[in-house]
Parts: sequence; C-alpha cells; structure tokens
Amino acid sequence: MILFKRSEDLHHWVLEQKNKGKITGFVPTMGALHEGHMELVKACRSMVDQTICSIFVNPAQFNDPKDFEKYPVSTEKDIQMLYHAGADIVFLPSVEEIYPHGQTGLETYDLGPLETLLEGRYRPGHFQGVSQVMSRLLKLVQPDHLFMGQKDFQQCLVVQRLIEIMHLPVQLHTVPTVREEDGLAQSSRNRRLTAEQRKNAAAISQVLSDIRGKLSSGDAGELLKQAREKLDAAHFKTDYISIARASDLQPLAYWNGKEKAVALVAAFQGDVRLIDNMLLN
Ligand code: AMP
Repeated sequence: MILFKRSEDLHHWVLEQKNKGKITGFVPTMGALHEGHMELVKACRSMVDQTICSIFVNPAQFNDPKDFEKYPVSTEKDIQMLYHAGADIVFLPSVEEIYPHGQTGLETYDLGPLETLLEGRYRPGHFQGVSQVMSRLLKLVQPDHLFMGQKDFQQCLVVQRLIEIMHLPVQLHTVPTVREEDGLAQSSRNRRLTAEQRKNAAAISQVLSDIRGKLSSGDAGELLKQAREKLDAAHFKTDYISIARASDLQPLAYWNGKEKAVALVAAFQGDVRLIDNMLLN
C-alpha cells in the first residue's frame, strides 16, 4: 500500500496506471474508519485493479464549525485498517493540497432542489462543500468506478448529479448500509454517544423499519406522526423524517404503491447528529 500526501504525486501515479490500462476505483472518506467504510473498500476491490482511498475531513462541508472541530480523527488506525482491507493507495492530503487557492471563491454547482431539501435545508452549504471536495478529488484521481455508502443517500444523488454536470466518465456504485446488531447504522459519529445515548440511538433504525413494514399505498402522514413520537420517546430531537421519492427526494405525501420510495431521518441524540435511511420497496 502506498501513502500519498501530495496531490501531484498521486496524480502522477494515477496517470501511470492509466497508461498501463489499469482499471481504478475510488473510496473517498473522512477517516475514523469502521466496517461500513471497509465494505466500500471490499466492493471496490472486487471490481477494479487498483483501489484508491482518501482520508480528508473536508472543512468546506461542515456548516457548524463545532461539528468540524469535534470530528473524530484516528489516522494511524485508519491506515492499518485500509492496509488489512487490501487498499492499494491511501491519499492523505492537507487542506492546502485540496484547496491550494484557499476556501473562498470556490466554484459552486447547480444541484437543483437536492441542495435545499432535507440535509440541505438543515445544513446550508453542506452539499456545495461536498461537491467542491468531490470535484477536486475526482479530477485528481480520475477513477473508473466510485464507491459511496447508501447511508448518505442524498449525498449519493448529489454526487451523481455532479458527475453528470462535470461529464465525468466514472460509474457511481452505492453500497448498502452496514449496521450494528441493534440496527444502528455504523457511523464515525457513534463514537461520541454516551452509553445511554447509544442505547436510545437504536430507535432511529427501528422507526425506519416500522415505516417499511407498515407502508401501504395512500396517505403517509400517520406513519410519519408515529415515527416522530417514537423518536421523541427515545429522547431524539428530530430535524426531519420524510418519506420521499427515491429518485429526487421529493416528499411523497401520497404514495401510489409503485414509485420507488425511501424513508430518511436526521435527529440529534444529545449533541450528536445521526442520519439514516431505508429503501421502502
Ligand atoms: P464518511 O467518512 O462519513 O464521509 O463516509 C465515507 C463513505 O463511507 C461515504 O460514502 C459514506 O456513505 C460511507 N459510509 C459511512 N457509513 C457507512 C455505513 N454504515 N455503511 C456503508 N457505507 C457507509
């Protein structure tokens, strides 16, 4: 496994691989790695010749500076995990390597309604930040395949749109969410939960499973009400819970029983913000 810190060195290596006709895959992460990330690496390895992973906590996508400061960092352990998972390259850039001209005046992208719905509504600027870092990384890495987690469902839709806007010849693969035994989606943020919050946190996937089990065509309002109540009872402070069209996340007040639908939730347990989602059909 080779570790690059400089964009130029990574780019040089990438061009060499292209010349050799190697198929490359890319797994971008913010570190504090867990089994969910390893699943992405596994999916990537099964499809490509060279697996490139990045670890970069992107300041541009944190609308709350406190959240950025508190983001867990475990680089040594991450590198070991990636080594054992069989990654070929780890890219560990500094902020200056990613944003050599600073973070102001970066390009903005027309993400359509996805930018201001759900996560976008509660985290203004977040998806522009995601697009800015992904645009930079994708230009550098030029992967044939890109692997991202369904856990961040809206992020996958945003990145797919970015790929289309930029006309990049890369195929995005969405990998199913890896969960703990009680259903909690694995997340770097789970490390910040107290023992009691960790117990409460299981409610978030339970409400999604309930919706999936109970959804039938017609009005979704009652299901959402029950879900909110269950989250309240587990001491969650809910930002949103939505039943939406899977293709563009427009809310489905009335479900026709056929359209591909997804339930999405974001809620705070203490000061830890958790998100999760489930496909409903
Ligand atoms: P992050 O480090 O949180 O930016 O996540 C890096 C990538 O891992 C993103 O594509 C996430 O969607 C994905 N990911 C995070 N948690 C999980 C999980 N529990 N299962 C599958 N993929 C995940």
